[in-house]
Amino acid sequence: MEFINEEYLNSLIDDKKLFDVSYQKEIIEKSKLAKGLTLEESAALLNINDPEVLNEMFHTAKEVKEKIYGNRLVLFAPLYLTNLCVNNCLYCAFRRDNKELTRVTLSLDDIKSETKYLVEQGHKRLLLVAGEHPKKSELGFIGEAVKAIYNVNINGGNIRRININTAPMSIDDFKVLKSFEVGTYQCFQETYHYDTYMKMHPSGPKKDYSYRLYAMDRAIQAGIDDVGIGALFGLTDYKFETLALLSHAIYLDHTYGIGPHTISVPRLEPANNAPVAEKPPFAVSDDDFKKLVAIIRLAVPYTGIILSTRERPELRREVFELGISQISAGSRTSPGAYKESQDSMEEHQMEQFQLGDHRSLDQVVKDCTELGYLPSFCTACYRSDRTGDRFMALAKTGKIGKLCAPNALATFKEYLNDFASEETKKTALAAIEKFIKNEDEALQNKINKMIERVDKGERDVFF
Ligand code: SAM
Ligand code: SF4
Repeated sequence: MEFINEEYLNSLIDDKKLFDVSYQKEIIEKSKLAKGLTLEESAALLNINDPEVLNEMFHTAKEVKEKIYGNRLVLFAPLYLTNLCVNNCLYCAFRRDNKELTRVTLSLDDIKSETKYLVEQGHKRLLLVAGEHPKKSELGFIGEAVKAIYNVNINGGNIRRININTAPMSIDDFKVLKSFEVGTYQCFQETYHYDTYMKMHPSGPKKDYSYRLYAMDRAIQAGIDDVGIGALFGLTDYKFETLALLSHAIYLDHTYGIGPHTISVPRLEPANNAPVAEKPPFAVSDDDFKKLVAIIRLAVPYTGIILSTRERPELRREVFELGISQISAGSRTSPGAYKESQDSMEEHQMEQFQLGDHRSLDQVVKDCTELGYLPSFCTACYRSDRTGDRFMALAKTGKIGKLCAPNALATFKEYLNDFASEETKKTALAAIEKFIKNEDEALQNKINKMIERVDKGERDVFF
């Protein structure tokens, strides 16, 4: 636990010097270099109250995001394998003591039909999610599920990258997980505050704070070089949680030479029979949420930040501006829910928590395009071995943007040709033209050639 130094983080939160407005302005200037921030500097930004300074920080976060990732937003959807769970997390509807939850584990046929539904919406990236259960979510089953998903192909449409969000594993199990050819392994610490963690996780294997905290070390040691960390905001003071998340990111970077590939920022949502979710002990306001996202962007500029459909569309639009690089869309949070009607009672009784954004992928794509973002379904890096330190090296030298733009545009055109509604297509085609015009001539030629191949029917065009 040495890299989460509670005493030090609390001393930063209490430090009066870090409320100094001119110091905060200095840090915002420094953050424009996109070289990251120290914990002390991040703590000072967390104290910003002056609306003008806050606006300047928001503006800088947007600039930094655009400098590294351009205007791309990568899209994905979660796929829940099982809601059976031996843990008892007080905030989650899947917890063992929730006797009212209808427990479901998907069969391989169910997994294939959920995948078919998602492929038909146009998704190319999935996040596999599961409760923790020694039999129902064991590694062999995850392997079978991954294989079944990768094998679904509908006229060239298929899932090309599967990320994983499951309970932490041993190094040996992580080695097996890697052999399934999965992408990022994600696991959220939920809260880095030890006493709160112990209260929130009264029983089950998840009770072990340290085993979860060092999950990423074991994953990296097993050869998984893209890992995703996160905290469930609302369990403890958001300033503490943000600084602790950053401590984790800095620790991974120092120890392994690569920081986390992604940081997730879920906020606690209402969940059936989950006492803590009904009334979050440290509910994070929309304003504080925006602030913490912008600070993460400035503190670790090369890390992807993921925003899920837990948030409402209006807020999602505002937060995209502050440095988000990946978003889920058209999500459901219970096993088998994609083929069920979204509003059926049955589904609500099986879901993990309530969603804030119920729009379809097509609606989200149209909205993002209208806002000036380029929705991306690209999975090229993962399949071209540009993961871990290879990806970071490209990101840190500013080269990733040039590589991503053509790939993003080719996959976006593929999506439009195969899956988009006429209305979305109309908006998006005009946007694509504008995006291409913004690139230099050599890149424009490259992009136009790739799009031509897509229009002729070739699928999965990337370089
Ligand atoms: N069971 C595994 C675990 O806990 O790590 C993996 C998946 S769990 C289903 C995925 C994440 O959902 C958790 O890490 C937690 O952060 C989030 N979650 C649980 N309850 C939530 C709630 N009420 N609101 C928002 N997110 C929640
Ligand atoms: Fe189980 Fe994960 Fe929910 Fe906790 S958060 S009850 S471990 S599914």
